[in-house]
Amino acid sequence: MDNDLESMLLKGAEEFGVRLDKGQVDKFFMYMELLKTWNEKVNLTSIKEDRDIIVKHFIDSLSILPYILPYKNSKSSRLIDIGTGAGFPGIPLKIACNELDITLLDSVEKKVKFLEECIDSLKLSKIKAFHGRAEDYGNNPLYREKFDISTARAVANLPVLLEYCLPFVRIGGIFIAMKGKSSDEVKDSMNAMDILGGKIEIIKQITLPFSDNKRNIIIIKKFRQIPAKYPRKAGKPSKMPLI
Ligand code: SAM
Repeated sequence: MDNDLESMLLKGAEEFGVRLDKGQVDKFFMYMELLKTWNEKVNLTSIKEDRDIIVKHFIDSLSILPYILPYKNSKSSRLIDIGTGAGFPGIPLKIACNELDITLLDSVEKKVKFLEECIDSLKLSKIKAFHGRAEDYGNNPLYREKFDISTARAVANLPVLLEYCLPFVRIGGIFIAMKGKSSDEVKDSMNAMDILGGKIEIIKQITLPFSDNKRNIIIIKKFRQIPAKYPRKAGKPSKMPLI
């Protein structure tokens, strides 16, 4: 293992209050190797350099952990990562915080096969990957309002994401939207917030360590139940966002 890369991972994680031990660091590097190998045959990520994988995938994913920890209750908290792709932010969160009970969801089956291999090879427990669409799972009583936290990174714009992600969250739980350098989508999201019972709690701009990349972390609290007709059927939220 390259010492510079290891220290980059350790220091970057520490910026967000995350202390990784040797076993956890090993898992991150195993994950990186799997990602690079699978990426040759399945389109998982355009980020290919080790350093970029560490900063833009691993550390970026860990940047939301400080907002998750207050929602950890005495039982293990349940988190669902919608449109997780190659596992971001869900797998780094699992490696860093083993007590979280994590569900990964993505609509592309090959990506889910990759996630299953990661879960197996990294010997991760209390984490499952499912193939399907947020709109369908959000209407399934086994998943609807069953999570303390939902997350999504780089999946859709905020009005669409609210319809994908809030149905999974229990009343009093949160949805964490991981956004790029602009938080402009927030002003287009007021109607969706109103309909879906969400309220912005925090908008925090961060700069990713070892880079000048800016990100916005948007925390939305769910304060009431969502009307039964949401989420609408698959494809509708993105075609006709609740703007
Ligand atoms: N979250 C990962 C990341 O940040 O690297 C992946 C981002 S990728 C650009 C968007 C992912 O969202 C894709 O893997 C896609 O299959 C998934 N996706 C898009 N719409 C979805 C939906 N309605 N339900 C489930 N997954 C969806």
